[in-house]
Amino acid sequence: MRDRIDALRELLDRASYAYYVLDSPVLTDAEYDVLYRELVDLERANPGRITDASPTQRVGAPPSRLFAPVTHTDPMLSIDNVFDTAELEAWVDRLARLLGETPDLFAELKIDGLALSLRYEGGVLLQAATRGDGRIGEDVTANVYTVDAVPKRIAYQDPLEVRGEIYLPRSAFEALNRDPTLKAPFANPRNAAAGSLRQKDPRVTASRGLAFFAYQLESPVLCSTHEESLDYLASLGFRIEPHASPVLRENLLERVQELDRLRGKLDYETDGVVIKVNSLAQRVQVGSTSRAPRWVIAYKFAPEEQVTRLLAIAISV
Ligand code: NAD
Repeated sequence: MRDRIDALRELLDRASYAYYVLDSPVLTDAEYDVLYRELVDLERANPGRITDASPTQRVGAPPSRLFAPVTHTDPMLSIDNVFDTAELEAWVDRLARLLGETPDLFAELKIDGLALSLRYEGGVLLQAATRGDGRIGEDVTANVYTVDAVPKRIAYQDPLEVRGEIYLPRSAFEALNRDPTLKAPFANPRNAAAGSLRQKDPRVTASRGLAFFAYQLESPVLCSTHEESLDYLASLGFRIEPHASPVLRENLLERVQELDRLRGKLDYETDGVVIKVNSLAQRVQVGSTSRAPRWVIAYKFAPEEQVTRLLAIAISV
């Protein structure tokens, strides 16, 4: 018999398709997160029902056939979420137990765009790919070549992979939605960024004003902390979000609140704070699940949007 677990999976699958493939969401992120959390709790209570096909076990969505597939060397995973400070503290406690000591942490704004992997070789940008389903992404190199904020040449010759967030500044989003030639307005800057990046014609992407912040150096360069790797990326010419900084555990909640207060004051949308273990050796020690690394968590800000009629419909499925 079709029950609540099946109904939630169906609904989340439909919402993910609209969000990732059509760039036209049918639920707000807050609505999606409430339903997702309900499914996680039901699966936790009924572990026999967990299957690989559940939205809780997957990342993103399969790549579109419009673009050539790119197999990621290291999977581009998701990030687990927490929604209040008690859950955040529980995450730090869990890490401290795993490591046998409290880790040094690093806090960054969670930019509301989409993840991009950039591969360089011989100092030249060779390939840019979206996350896709985490394993296989979409080759968007020609489009990314039109984005000024992405360095095309770097002063480093060996193979190097850089990951970060491609996003549409609020000002560019507002200008885009005023464009009378647009078929339909975009729901938010995240969907507008995804729609602008995943264009068949790079000239359309070029006209949209996309921007990029790097947040991850994948290839092993001589860095022992995340902080050093961001400094190194900055020295190569990558833009780093200016509020990214190390944080002591005792100051973590205060820092999260400070960053929350910045919301609305910046020219880019953020939906939370990403808290990461700063030591790269400690990251290896704690590892990842199939869906998300254990060394990073996203503290989601309280939603700005109202929970709407759609949620009432969704909840009654
Ligand atoms: P996520 O988007 O919550 O978090 C992971 C992503 O955060 C990374 O892939 C990266 O792109 C991004 N990110 C931004 N700043 C970062 C930083 N400083 N460091 C590291 N990563 C950073 O997780 P997800 O798995 O991509 O998607 C799930 C989320 O997507 C849901 O929680 C929901 O908010 C949204 N979603 C919404 C709908 C909808 O219908 N509205 C449908 C599906 C998913």
